[in-house]
Amino acid sequence: MAELGRRMFFTAAGALATVTAVGTHAFASGHARDARTADEYVDVQLLNITDLHGYLQAAPASNAVITGAGGKKYTVGGVAYMAAHLERLRAGRANSLFFAPGDLFSGWEFPAESLADEPTIEALNRMGMNFASAGNHEFDKSPAFLSQHMVDGISYPTVDWDNSFVDSAGQRFHGANFAYYSANMVWAKDGRTVLPPYNIEWVDAGRGRRLPVGFIHLTVLGSELMPASYQPGLRSLDQLATADRCAAELKARGVNAIVLSMHDGAVAGGDFNSGTNPSGPAYELALRCSPDIDAIVCGHWHTAFNMMVPDPNGVRRPFVEAGCHGQIINEINLRLDPATGKVIRELTTSTNHPNTRDVAPHPELAEVVKYWAGYGTRRAAVPLGKQTASFTRTRNEAGESTMGDLVADWALWAGRQPQGPMNDANLDPPTPADLAVIAIAPRLGQAIIAGDLVYDAATDGTVAFGKAWNAVGFGDPIVTATVTGQQIHDALEQQWTVPVGGGLKYAPLAVSANVRYSFDATGPAGNRVDPADVLIDGRPLDVSRSYRIAAPSYTLLNQDGYPAFTGFAQPFRHNRDFESFVAYVKERGRIEPAPLNRVTVKNGGVTGARIGEIHAPERLRSAAGVVLPRAEAAALAANRPTAEGFRVPC
Ligand SMILES: [Zn+2]
Repeated sequence: MAELGRRMFFTAAGALATVTAVGTHAFASGHARDARTADEYVDVQLLNITDLHGYLQAAPASNAVITGAGGKKYTVGGVAYMAAHLERLRAGRANSLFFAPGDLFSGWEFPAESLADEPTIEALNRMGMNFASAGNHEFDKSPAFLSQHMVDGISYPTVDWDNSFVDSAGQRFHGANFAYYSANMVWAKDGRTVLPPYNIEWVDAGRGRRLPVGFIHLTVLGSELMPASYQPGLRSLDQLATADRCAAELKARGVNAIVLSMHDGAVAGGDFNSGTNPSGPAYELALRCSPDIDAIVCGHWHTAFNMMVPDPNGVRRPFVEAGCHGQIINEINLRLDPATGKVIRELTTSTNHPNTRDVAPHPELAEVVKYWAGYGTRRAAVPLGKQTASFTRTRNEAGESTMGDLVADWALWAGRQPQGPMNDANLDPPTPADLAVIAIAPRLGQAIIAGDLVYDAATDGTVAFGKAWNAVGFGDPIVTATVTGQQIHDALEQQWTVPVGGGLKYAPLAVSANVRYSFDATGPAGNRVDPADVLIDGRPLDVSRSYRIAAPSYTLLNQDGYPAFTGFAQPFRHNRDFESFVAYVKERGRIEPAPLNRVTVKNGGVTGARIGEIHAPERLRSAAGVVLPRAEAAALAANRPTAEGFRVPC
């Protein structure tokens, strides 16, 4: 996060950009600051948070402190504090709306993450969330999971295990008391939106009158191709064109106050309540989108800024992002002309309030947090099955490990599962996998294996839920796809690379139990694996035929350095790694380390033979040295195009 102050994006509209830095205030004009009495206006308070990611107890250590004006530090996070701040901010306000531009879940605090993100929905319900945009992570399971389960509360197998847990009030999960929207996530098959594109809220204008305020919602472009929210049956539409089209529709329906809530962001300096030197896709959009849009509320980038940016007519409008993980509540105050319902733009104000922990926590939310934390602890201890011995990441000479083999066997199992009840965004059928690969020490990115499964003698080898959950996964699905034998061969060759400065780097792929291969330790990088030495179900790899391969989306999408897999066909997305690995251990009941005989070294004893150096990726840390949450680390470390150095963390 040390890089936030740097300019990361080239700004085509450079001349406009120079006039947008506004220091620590975000008043549209001096009038906005002074106009405190407002009987002649209709005041509308907009409160928003973003990218909560299920951090109900507290922000993770890497995000627990934010920096304000003059370098002042604030320790922030936790919904019990957030609820107290919200109560204070809302006091005396007739028209107040609370919303979020996305990534409220997936949640990476264990109770939320492992209890189907239902704790997050309960907390948001109790904090009075009115509506939300779908972020990329709202599609980490499926569109059906979002709409039918999270919003409508429809259960799917198996109640009390996968979903539909009993909440802190003793009620079975009933879904969100608020709706999700996205104007630009559509079904690939027919172009229809997955969710409603916008909502119209009616605010009290006094004397029995009401005025409409429209909210347009955008999901970050390309969400369907991100490793976690990989959904072959979805497409995302251009953000600017969609925003302008929706603004025109709202205008045509008589809505004269319009807010854009978008799950895409920008960087704009290091002070959370200011904005300097902005850059990023949301900023480019903010400069260009319809002047009928009165405020632009961002997310996704996990950055915090608060500023006014001129619309194409040169009239200023708020452009804000409220950090992540419950750090900040943004408050925009719109003043509407009671006759026309238009926003009197020069009277708009905006503030980023830190969600500090120095206030009394809201007792109701504190109780909710405590309840789910306890539930998480009990869930972590639930036995899934037995193991006969330890599975470790310790590698033999060929680069093979018992943990790698176990995870590759899980991937094959996962890639042979039928379509799940909520898995509704695939275009192709779930043709079962022929083989599976797992990058155990990838060239790039993070490893999907996070820990060992150590035999616990005291419980006779019981594998508990929390142990399995914490050993495997970073929030991405297993995908089965069609590749050629040539692609499989080439990926095996890509295990070896010559780093700058020489030497030989080995980034081993674990393979499922039905695969054997050997490599020639005397061969150069790129020519070590003979297809005849790769056996799938006992038959040599045929480079000219096609195979169904199962692997994490992260690997197939070339996030970890095996580009041979790109160009795969007929992908089928299966369940997410966390839930799927736990389900595998539970179904197997008893797991036993396999003999390390899947990978063998040819010519290992010959002069000049080299296995290659294996470097397991380190867990990524923040600038302050704090280990990052696994999902965030996987995204940050992934091999993906970045704009001048800034990597969006999720
Ligand atoms: Zn996001």
